[in-house]
Amino acid sequence: MKRLTYIVILVWMCAACKGSGQSRITYVPDTAALGRAFEMYREPTLIHRRFKHADIEPLILKRRGTGVFEVSQLGNSVLRKPIYQLKYGDGPKKVMLWSQMHGNEPTATMALMDLFNFLEGSDHGMDTLRHLLRTQTSLYFIPMLNPDGADVYTRRNAMDIDLNRDARVGQTAEGQLLIRAAATVKPHYGFNLHDMNIYYNVPGTRNPVTIALLAPAYNEEREVNEVRGNAMKIAAGINHILQGYIPDGVAKYDDTFSPRSFGDNFQRWGASTVLIESGGYKGDPEKQFIRKLNFIIILNSLVEIALDSYHQYGMAKYESLPFSVSQLADLVLRKVGASRDSMAYKIDLSVKRSEHTVDRDFYVQASIADVGDLQDVFGYDELDAEGYHFMPGKVCPQALKRMEDMSPKRAMDLLRQGYFAIQVEQIPEVRFHSFPLVIFHQRKPLSPGPVLGGAANFFLARDGRPVYAVVNGYLIDLAANEPPTAMKNYIF
Ligand SMILES: [Zn+2]
Repeated sequence: MKRLTYIVILVWMCAACKGSGQSRITYVPDTAALGRAFEMYREPTLIHRRFKHADIEPLILKRRGTGVFEVSQLGNSVLRKPIYQLKYGDGPKKVMLWSQMHGNEPTATMALMDLFNFLEGSDHGMDTLRHLLRTQTSLYFIPMLNPDGADVYTRRNAMDIDLNRDARVGQTAEGQLLIRAAATVKPHYGFNLHDMNIYYNVPGTRNPVTIALLAPAYNEEREVNEVRGNAMKIAAGINHILQGYIPDGVAKYDDTFSPRSFGDNFQRWGASTVLIESGGYKGDPEKQFIRKLNFIIILNSLVEIALDSYHQYGMAKYESLPFSVSQLADLVLRKVGASRDSMAYKIDLSVKRSEHTVDRDFYVQASIADVGDLQDVFGYDELDAEGYHFMPGKVCPQALKRMEDMSPKRAMDLLRQGYFAIQVEQIPEVRFHSFPLVIFHQRKPLSPGPVLGGAANFFLARDGRPVYAVVNGYLIDLAANEPPTAMKNYIF
């Protein structure tokens, strides 16, 4: 903590003595201190992605009248849920940050709540930072711009309109509200905070794109003026700090000019705007690590804006980031033996798991996403299945009475006998489960062949004996004592 204070004082003095807007300021972000700040100020009531408007509204309203933030209601969503703005600081550099205009893209909203805790905190060696932000910037936060979408975890608003395609015509309550906020505040900087799907990778690598960045274009020609150039430098600074956490996990987002989108229009309206897209990271299904990265890069960017130190990053550093490509799947099995009409062949199989929301939780349904030569497709999990052959699973002929009769050990025993599914007679109140089996009440599941779109329930066998199971898209080593535990299965 002390080191961070020291650096900021040093750099701030440097900025003060030279006047603002200098391009020669060197500010060295202390990434470790920023990471510790996150751990200290993480909002403890948000622990997964499917929180709702009712979960964050008290976190916003409790800040009214505290003297740290100016909290105002900008308007209502289509379903009459209040949308708020929190203003922090009185400095000359105006920054607008909005999150979750797509309801199922909540990662940055969590990070903003963490950031609010940080900003209204004190001491821990970071008051210098807070003072810097308070005096040099005015921060306008609009968290969860699409509460109706967030509450049912869908992208669009209650009118079925994609808010990020409404910047030009402004037909939605939420879009109008953001257009009005931009016209009122006239920000110099903008942060457009989104999530993207987890299947983007850095080209030429199997690394997921954990954060994608974009300084959106303001015209078809994708020209670079000072406004967009500054956004590129800020994005380059974000990449710089991210390399310490996710080397080779950063890419550029598609930069085609999108005249209906907010980022492109903010850029056109004169705010240097950066799009931050939270993608995927292995072992982080609830995106809590990516939330931490959001906290770090947003806080650091605000400090760099306060100090004008982002000019130290060349636009070329941003330009040289590769564009993300979409070559990932949850699971890739390579060189699986298969046969059809007595003809034997080898195939690669990729599997994707789609999420289905139930209130604040979700289950997955997995299917075979592709079949054939998939040397250019990469999996979060991969298996070289040379020497194994594809074997459909069987449904266990005896039903379970109750879920209480199932155990991980029993599930593994059934799998070893080639059963991938079992019926349960009494439907339990909670239909989620994490046993490595398809458990069903009414809807008997399928274990089709290695076919496109088929349910991802099958075995990999050697000499006719199952060695691996794929159950609802999860790979299970049948020689292991314990099955994987993080499975999101559901009883139909
Ligand atoms: Zn989005």
